[in-house]
Amino acid sequence: MPEKKEQLYEGKAKKVYATEDPNLVIVSYKDDATAFNGAKKGTIVGKGVVNNRMSNLLMEKLSEEGIPTHYVKELSERETLVKKVSIVPLEVIVRNIAAGSLAKRLGLAEGTPMKRTVLEYCYKCDALDDPMVNEYHILAMEYCTEQELKTIADMAIKINAFLVGYFASINVELVDFKLEFGKTSDGQIVLADEISPDTCRFWDATTHEKLDKDRFRRDMGGVEDAYKEMMKRVLG
Ligand code: ADP
Ligand code: UDP
Repeated sequence: MPEKKEQLYEGKAKKVYATEDPNLVIVSYKDDATAFNGAKKGTIVGKGVVNNRMSNLLMEKLSEEGIPTHYVKELSERETLVKKVSIVPLEVIVRNIAAGSLAKRLGLAEGTPMKRTVLEYCYKCDALDDPMVNEYHILAMEYCTEQELKTIADMAIKINAFLVGYFASINVELVDFKLEFGKTSDGQIVLADEISPDTCRFWDATTHEKLDKDRFRRDMGGVEDAYKEMMKRVLG
């Protein structure tokens, strides 16, 4: 069992700890929930457990599909050993169905299917409220190299193709989601952070009921039950 050393970082949803191995860190998932860049705060009881276990299971499945990830080993229901990466400061948003900010920006009804997969990038910067950027901004600002950006976009499309099919098999529509990528000490780009109801929009494929953090963002109630339902479908 790797030993947890000093806390390196506390974010809105997770803490990150050093280990005795400089290339490995432990992430610890909290029940704290925030929305609108921290303006709305709350607790979703049990969320940390759901997000940790779901994210790990999905990362395992993705690595079987040939996607390199930061995942190493689940240590407990809230803690996971991952490769330490330097995070590419981008939120990579993948969209299959219009919702949230895209629906608003383009004047689409939520639920309108996109005719092809849409990729968007936001610069990860809380002080600037994660502004949307395009490939020109990313390269001009040197958030990553052109080759790295190509790798990230190709991986995001592959991840989406796999996840859409996987979630369909548990009667869930994968509406949209956010990915983060990082660079390992040997320069490899890997999928990092998490894939969970905090970072994805999941709709029941039959009833279109929301099974994700939108229930918290929009004060819809039934937040814990939605997370539990996703956990049940994913982990059986
Ligand atoms: P935020 O920083 O947005 O509040 P979290 O509470 O989820 O988000 O904090 C986790 C932090 O750890 C994020 O900044 C995320 O980019 C970073 N992170 C995720 N995976 C890794 C990793 N493998 N190595 C280093 N940092 C990581
Ligand atoms: N998302 C995220 N973190 C963010 C912003 C977005 O995980 O900081 C996810 C969000 O859960 C949704 C997708 O990215 O699945 C697209 O979000 P959108 O741009 O519509 O923003 P929102 O409506 O969440 O503000």
